[in-house]
Amino acid sequence: MVKLSDNFGRPIHDLRISITDRCNYRCVYCRTGTNGAAYAELPFPDYLRMARILVGLGITKIRLTGGEPLLRKGIVEFVRDLARLRTLEGKKPEIALTTNGHLLAEIAQPLQDAGLDRVTVSMDAVDPERFARITRVPNGYESVLAGVRVSRRVGLEPVKINCVLLRGFNEDQIIPFGMFAREERVVVRFIEFMPLEEDRVWTPEIVVRLDEIVSRMSEYLPLQEVSHERSETARRYRFSDGVGEIGIIAPVSHPFCGHCSRIRITSDGKLRTCLFSVWDHDLHELMRRGATDEKLTEFIVKVVEKKEERHHIGEPGFVPASRTMVHIGG
Ligand code: SAM
Repeated sequence: MVKLSDNFGRPIHDLRISITDRCNYRCVYCRTGTNGAAYAELPFPDYLRMARILVGLGITKIRLTGGEPLLRKGIVEFVRDLARLRTLEGKKPEIALTTNGHLLAEIAQPLQDAGLDRVTVSMDAVDPERFARITRVPNGYESVLAGVRVSRRVGLEPVKINCVLLRGFNEDQIIPFGMFAREERVVVRFIEFMPLEEDRVWTPEIVVRLDEIVSRMSEYLPLQEVSHERSETARRYRFSDGVGEIGIIAPVSHPFCGHCSRIRITSDGKLRTCLFSVWDHDLHELMRRGATDEKLTEFIVKVVEKKEERHHIGEPGFVPASRTMVHIGG
């Protein structure tokens, strides 16, 4: 039995599939605001075949992302099909979704019924006006909040909120997000801004780093770090009174590449072994040419072996990734 791992001995068990390159938000730190979808999307049976082969190679967690995955009609049926796959241990794979939450309220229950386990909602402000300025879409906040609440109610828990902080833009939202985590009973995770945006505006100074987030949040209430799985991206903290949890994903100040267990499939069926890969591997083209499952397996195993050791954010000579975040699937 072949189990995916790379030449650095890292077992690969997390798969992210971008099911569309389209997005209904134009978040200022992610997209130019004028560029639309740049890559194709595949019929669901093609993603399903890739997922089936990968689950047979040791993938245990599948996260659907985009673009905005909820724009894709047929997502509920796709989740149902994924939920029928069995891992090498004979279990249903864990299925998660990353979404901006705009269309979530109506579809959360059907997704949960189909086999979705958890949801992560991206929110970069907890006040409606700021939210609109960031997303460049009016009146989104109420829809997203409704999506978060319905997700909790139907048991897609723990609901996680991803917030990207940018200096001078929304770092004043740190404490409001701490309050939000406690009031809404969600896990808020702050993500350090990475150089993966369409506009190429990243500078080290714009990144609000882990230490600063912890210190600012501690002005509100003391935090206690709790243990996390090695391959988990977020460092976890609980408020000292036991109510509420936050996480910090710190790829810039505290890289976690050494424990990376992830690979990605882009909406057009390319395999990517790192967010910062400078090339991707055309799995779909092989399928289109009629490759057997054995041939696809051989291809995947070879590609994954060569997964990049680490990213080089902030180092001299850093080469930007061949795609930006919205076109990879975060
Ligand atoms: N549309 C979905 C959403 O909003 O969650 C899925 C795709 S979106 C690209 C996935 C996540 O990547 C979001 O949480 C977003 O905030 C984050 N993201 C986008 N650009 C980023 C960057 N340059 N650095 C860090 N996170 C980024």
